[in-house]
Amino acid sequence: MGRNVRPDSVSSEKAEPLLLVSACLVGIPCQYDGGSCPHDQIQDLATQGGVLPFCPEVGGGLPTPRPPAEVRGGDGHDVLEGWARVVNIEGKDVTAEFLAGAQKALRLTRRWDIKEAILKTRSPSCGVGQIYDGSFSGRLVEGDGVTVALLKREGIIVRSEEEVR
Ligand code: SF4
Repeated sequence: MGRNVRPDSVSSEKAEPLLLVSACLVGIPCQYDGGSCPHDQIQDLATQGGVLPFCPEVGGGLPTPRPPAEVRGGDGHDVLEGWARVVNIEGKDVTAEFLAGAQKALRLTRRWDIKEAILKTRSPSCGVGQIYDGSFSGRLVEGDGVTVALLKREGIIVRSEEEVR
């Protein structure tokens, strides 16, 4: 896809814009269970230096592994408005960490002039268009994760890795 310029490049050629991507999609083991979910095409982009991997949950201060968390009472947009919370399976409110991670993701897009992101489906941070419903029963509802909601609000184009073929 021709994205081959690193953020610290000194080339006089015009740099391709970087994509922000969920760190787990390039194989970084930052998922709640210590796993990752590498995506072939995104890994290819990463080897060309075209992506900036970031995990909002780790970036927000949560450890790996960590108890799984879901948005309760809405989606990421509702969390930003203060109408919904992010709660882990042990009942601990981790909304502050999720909001901190989302803000860090936004700062990265501004720092590197990033206009697009490819983030991991169904995550309470990174999910695009669909997340779990807060009951830890595997039920999905329409909605965005917290980081996705903030990035969209700030004009970043966000797609899920399932849209990248
Ligand atoms: S928060 Fe996003 S980047 Fe981090 S593990 Fe979950 S889906 Fe991957």
